Amino acid sequence: MMDNKYFFSSDEQKLLDALVRGDISFHKVGKQTNLQTAIKIRRAALEKLTGTDLDTLGQFTIDSEDASQRNIENMIGAIQIPVGVAGPVCIKGEFAKGNYYLPLATTEGALVASVNRGCSAITSSGGSTVRIFKDQMTRAPVYCLDGVKQSREFVDWIKLPEVFVKLKKKASETTRFGELTAVEPYVTGNNVYLRFCFDTKDAMGMNMVTIATQAIVDLIGDEIGIYPISLSGNMCADKKPAAINSILGRGKTVIAEVELTPEIVKNKLKTTPEAIAEVNYRKNLLGSARAVSLGFNAHAANIIAAMFIACGQDPAHVVEGSNTITTMEVTKYGSLYCSVTLPSLQIGTVGGGTKIATQNECLRILDAAGAGEIPGYNSKKLAEIIASAVLAGEISLVGAQAAGHLARAHAELGR
Ligand code: NAP
Repeated sequence: MMDNKYFFSSDEQKLLDALVRGDISFHKVGKQTNLQTAIKIRRAALEKLTGTDLDTLGQFTIDSEDASQRNIENMIGAIQIPVGVAGPVCIKGEFAKGNYYLPLATTEGALVASVNRGCSAITSSGGSTVRIFKDQMTRAPVYCLDGVKQSREFVDWIKLPEVFVKLKKKASETTRFGELTAVEPYVTGNNVYLRFCFDTKDAMGMNMVTIATQAIVDLIGDEIGIYPISLSGNMCADKKPAAINSILGRGKTVIAEVELTPEIVKNKLKTTPEAIAEVNYRKNLLGSARAVSLGFNAHAANIIAAMFIACGQDPAHVVEGSNTITTMEVTKYGSLYCSVTLPSLQIGTVGGGTKIATQNECLRILDAAGAGEIPGYNSKKLAEIIASAVLAGEISLVGAQAAGHLARAHAELGR
């Protein structure tokens, strides 16, 4: 590896040498020089330490100053993921209304083509109808009490309406937009979990609710002298597959549906409503039940991951998105009714990675970047669009399996 490809000054070279020797840490480099130089020195050190050329990792367009403040520590560069476009897909939501082009960031060949085919079937059928049924981000601290008697007293206290008013007021002092909407207590022996639910408007809200919950537990401590063991007790449940999110919801609970005529199924998907309904029943419903899966779908996570990465969402939340349930049934008129229910879609149009320039452009394609004029409008629009994209992906893949096309499509696209 050549040091001089970076044209380091002698001071910078000394920093690099110290980093390679392990005399200073990757983090400390940032304190001893400017950000752009620190990024190069870390990369050069990593090249030496691992014997790797990192030239492409160092070529990027995003604003490293901004990213280093909000999104990343010890920055060394940026990776690139190809972005494709599917659509337009016609959406008849309460917030997303009209035709939308979907940006999908993926390395899985055939995914964009598949979603595109589903969009075409949906749009030819007049569009997807989408509604949001619940909207709440959660944080659940765990308390360890003396025993069941104290657990019961604590739960009775937390349920008092006047206590809720106090907690809500305390939370509102930490955020202009977040709002405490409910507290759900769960007890396991001497452990009490308080699942705090918030409306976080356009933010996905994990930072927001964590800060608000800290203020709430401080207030509880001041009032009754009880303090949590941990601010998160895993009944939130963040970034883990969990039935509680499927049942009670986390983020947006959103449902998209469409009815496809037999002609559209034949022309666009090369099969019949009956064949698709049967694959859905035996695969997505029975097969998932037999596997004791939390997700009853074909590949919802594929579309959620691709849209999340393109639009600056937290990719770890694909876990919660994957618990989608897909239904497909033949109507009395012979059409195919299709729906996807996403119980816990965690998304935002402010905060997180939404301001990174490339991701922000993808949000702008959807006219859902930043805070809406009405707080919460843009994030709900994004939820309706992602649900419609998932519907398109499900229709296309189940259709392909019904028509026996799956292996052929992948072979023809060369992967
Ligand atoms: P955030 O950027 O921390 O907070 C959102 C910010 O946007 C707040 O400052 C909020 O104002 C402001 N805002 C402006 N207009 C808004 C509007 N219309 N609606 C809502 N907020 C608006 O983002 P976050 O969504 O809370 O958290 C997302 C980040 O948390 C991601 O990076 C994710 O990876 C990370 N994360 C954190 C944890 C954790 O436990 N801390 C867990 C998982 C993920 P206010 O200040 O007035 O509220």
